[in-house]
Formats: sequence, C-alpha cells, structure tokens
Amino acid sequence: MIPHRLRNLHRPDVLRAKLEREQAPRTTLSFYRYVRLSGVEDLRNELYAEWEALGVLGRIYLSQEGINAQLSLPTSNVEMFRTALDAREAFADVPWKIAVEDDDKSFLKLMVKVKKKIVADGLADDAFDVTNVGAHLDAAAFNRKMEEGALVIDMRNNYECLIGHFDGAYLPKADTFRGAIEEVTLRLRSGQGGTGNDPEILLYCTGGIRCEKASAYLKHEGFTNVGQLHGGIIDYARQIKAQGLASKYKGQNFVFDERLAERITDDVVSTCMQCGKSSDRIGNCQEVTCNMLLVQCEACAEEYADCCSPSCREIHQLPNEVQRAWRKGRSTRSTKTKAINDPEGLRRRIREQEEMLARIGTLHPELVRAGNFPPQPPTIN
Ligand SMILES: [Zn+2]
Ligand SMILES: [Zn+2]
Repeated sequence: MIPHRLRNLHRPDVLRAKLEREQAPRTTLSFYRYVRLSGVEDLRNELYAEWEALGVLGRIYLSQEGINAQLSLPTSNVEMFRTALDAREAFADVPWKIAVEDDDKSFLKLMVKVKKKIVADGLADDAFDVTNVGAHLDAAAFNRKMEEGALVIDMRNNYECLIGHFDGAYLPKADTFRGAIEEVTLRLRSGQGGTGNDPEILLYCTGGIRCEKASAYLKHEGFTNVGQLHGGIIDYARQIKAQGLASKYKGQNFVFDERLAERITDDVVSTCMQCGKSSDRIGNCQEVTCNMLLVQCEACAEEYADCCSPSCREIHQLPNEVQRAWRKGRSTRSTKTKAINDPEGLRRRIREQEEMLARIGTLHPELVRAGNFPPQPPTIN
C-alpha cells in the first residue's frame, strides 16, 4: 500500500489551472488559538489528511503553543470543517473570521507546517508574561476610544500599513514584528506621541494575533493602559458592516495570500511610488529575483511592464532562456520592501537608469550580449 503522501507535489501553474476549473464557490477564513499542543508532528499529519479530504487549501502553522490558520475551502464543506474542528478539544469553538471580499482563489495548495512559534515574532517569550494581555475591544469600543483621543498604533509591518490603516495611527517603519515593537516602545518612552508617560494605547493588526503578544510586551514594559482590537482589522470590517458603524479604518487591508489586499473602504491612502500620484494598487515587481513590493499606478505599471525600475523591466523583457541563465543561483524568495520607506530613492534610481538607458541603449550590456538580444550587427573584419 502506498502511504498517504501528506504534501502537495504539483507545480503552481498546474494548481492554478485546477483551481480555475473548479466550479463550486470557496470560502476564505482564518483563525488562531494559543493552546498547548502535544504530539505536534502526528497532529500535523492527521490534520493534513483530514483537511485535504475536505478540499482545504491554505497555510497552517502548528506549534506547541497553538495553531494559526489561513485557508479556503468549498463553501459546501464549511459545516463539516466546523464539526471536524470542534471534535478536537484543542480547537473546539475556536472563533474564525471569514474574509469579506472573496475571489475564491486565495490559496493554491494546502500547507501544514510545524513551527517553533505560530507567529514568528522574534521575542523572548520567557522574558515576560505572554498571558497578561491588553483589554480586548470590539469595533464600537475601539471607535469610541479613538474619538476620546487614544494613541492608535499599527502593529503590522511597514508594507502592510501602506494601502490602508486607521485614521491618524502611528505606522512603524520596521518590516518585522520585533522591529516594530521595539520602535513603538522607544517612541512611547520618548513621549513622541505627546501623550505623557502612560498614554491610553490602542493596538491593532490584521487578525488580532500579533496584538496579543504586543500588548503583553508593552504591559511588561510598564504601560498600563493598553487596549487591542479583538479579531483585528478583519473582524472590525465585519462588525462595522453588520452594525452599520462608520469605518475609522481607511483603504484596503493587506492580506497574506494571492489577493494581497481586501478593500475595507473606498479611500485611497497611498501614492504610486514611481510617479507620486494617488494610487493603492499594490503588487510585486515582475522581475522575479527582485520581487519588490510596491504601490504602482496603472500608468506606471504599463510604462515599467509591472516592474519596479527600467533595470528590472529590461531583464523581464529578455528572452526566457537568457533570464533563466541570469537567475541561476539567485534567490527569488524574498519579498523586498526597501522602497517603502524611501520612494524618493526609488524615483532617483529610476531617473538615473532612464538617463543611462537613453545614453547607451541598455542597462545590462553583458546580458544583452550573452543572449544576443537584440541581435548584434555582424562584425566587419
Ligand atoms: Zn505612477
Ligand atoms: Zn524590480
């Protein structure tokens, strides 16, 4: 008998085609729980087999400290999935959030990974009491405290805050959770918020999970007045819709799946990093070794062929075999975010490259020669 392989072995394009053919509507949802889990490896294999049978696709992290799941599944199987979750004591009644805007194609495969932590936060958990968390606030209470002048802090990474955030929130420049919490602590200590030594603090993040840690950390650091948006932006969006409240969150919510963002309000809070015009169209540079995340308006997307710069555009437009040869040994995995805090730097690079391009006709002479692209004129002896 062939044992169950318990992992996906198909190529992304095959998976995407399969998903495109699928007729049944899918539901995208997410949940997490801090809970002591034992036998995590076995549990991982059980969950993979059980959930794959239900048509679940998504990214699930398991660790001894709990579960963190973002997934989609055929809507007709949602009830069976709920029953399967509730049947496990550790996951019984775990609240989940259903994505508001849903194009059904959020995830291509099922991935269940065993991790050291369910959120890679880089914090030394034993240094503070992770269970001493801030007060959980619902959307209405969060709005009210905002109106009373509380200091709102975005606990997401810089690239997640770009295209949407709460009105007037402090947006950290860091691109890791640990960096963000250190930056926030420093800022609060130095009183830059102008709100005294122990201000009323409101934290929020995508789904609420990071604020559990962040609020405990800030309390450990001596701040006593710490509140957090329960269920994060995802559940805030659901609550304001259900209760007819005004959204103090403006723009789009950055999400970690194929969609990159879901719209909460029609406000556009960002500008194109290339031309500076109002835009909240977000994407990755199509030159795959660059992959830089950027906000790029339609016109610039056309001008730069969905790339971040003339240099990347030139590589992206070379014949595939030349690109492949060039990519050998280069990493294509990171999502570069360096332009986010420095769009001016990006625009300067673009200007310099355009000048050079106008002068010598190429930014990558070796590549163009190697690929004989465009064809070199025959040399005359
Ligand atoms: Zn633009
Ligand atoms: Zn690029």
